Amino acid sequence: MSSNTRVSKADYYEVLGVSRNASDQELKSAYRKQALKYHPDRNPGNREAEEKFKEASEAYQVLSDAEKRAAYDRYGHAGVGGQGFSAGPFGGGVDLGDIFGDLFGEMFNVGGGVHRATRQHRGDDLRFDLTIDFEDAIFGTETEVKLRRLDVCTACNGRGSASGRGPSVCSQCQGRGQIRYQQGFFSVARTCTACGGTGSVIGDPCPTCRGEGRAAREVKLNVKVPPGVEDGTRVRYAGEGDAGRAGGPKGDLYIILSIRPHDFFERSGHDLHCVVPISFPQAALGAEFEIAGIDGPINIKVPEGTQSGKELRIRGRGVPYLNDKGHGDLIVKVIVQIPRKLSRAQRDLVAKLGESLTVDNKPASPGLIEKMKDLFS
Ligand SMILES: [Zn+2]
Ligand SMILES: [Zn+2]
Repeated sequence: MSSNTRVSKADYYEVLGVSRNASDQELKSAYRKQALKYHPDRNPGNREAEEKFKEASEAYQVLSDAEKRAAYDRYGHAGVGGQGFSAGPFGGGVDLGDIFGDLFGEMFNVGGGVHRATRQHRGDDLRFDLTIDFEDAIFGTETEVKLRRLDVCTACNGRGSASGRGPSVCSQCQGRGQIRYQQGFFSVARTCTACGGTGSVIGDPCPTCRGEGRAAREVKLNVKVPPGVEDGTRVRYAGEGDAGRAGGPKGDLYIILSIRPHDFFERSGHDLHCVVPISFPQAALGAEFEIAGIDGPINIKVPEGTQSGKELRIRGRGVPYLNDKGHGDLIVKVIVQIPRKLSRAQRDLVAKLGESLTVDNKPASPGLIEKMKDLFS
């Protein structure tokens, strides 16, 4: 369809801004300049730039081919009319993919950076959930865990090839890991299927790891839990994750600690909490007794006139600070127990006490009761 050729079509040499006897190298660098300036990725939505880019690409496609250039020199556009630029993928000797490859690879960063194919890959990070006892979280512990991970293949020392020769450059993509091709006016890259994008292939894969350079293995690891860890604490073991592919760096292992609940202690940061029932006489007259603490017996002193729900703070008997000296506190909440059943003698005593105690049974706002509690404590 040479009749579609526009009459006003610009001269290919003028388009590229080179002389009629420009060398291949001059053509190439002139085209680079134009393509960089007018590439659609750099001029989104700019029709004029797109036209210029098409023109330059077409001019270069014709002039970089000796046969086409000769035809163009002799007959002008008519001589190459059948080779419409937009007719589809390029054939013949023009390796545009190659030009685009290094042009946009190194200068444009099309698609998020230069693609440097490599077989080597960092190993995955692993997660291991470890449940420890309440006391172990407070005092620290040491335990052995068993985990399955990818370790460096011992048969091939991680090289992946049976002979130890290692991988060779992929012949399909010349090690790029990508195959570039033209789609319309754009250079598109797809992952090389021959090497899976790694840029290299192993001719004689190790039978143990099938060329991966690593194999699954169960390993035992000694885990040290420092005193004072909290529920959900993440302990990182650098380099204890999966081995990297083909000798790549190892991933890390993360041990996530969860703490089993205690029968009566609860943790809130570095403080320990528990509830202790006391009798009405103990609350009224005061008392002293021992409770079993997490680190041994603890003496509790209930002052005279203690209200139910009062919290007693025992300093330094809580959880040790993880990375520092000192401990949190133990907070003992005393609850005054009202007996549900009394003997006749006890009833008489309480009744006698009641006669001498006066409480104003008038309603008060809940806020006032709180204030009174404070007053009493
Ligand atoms: Zn390849
Ligand atoms: Zn191997």
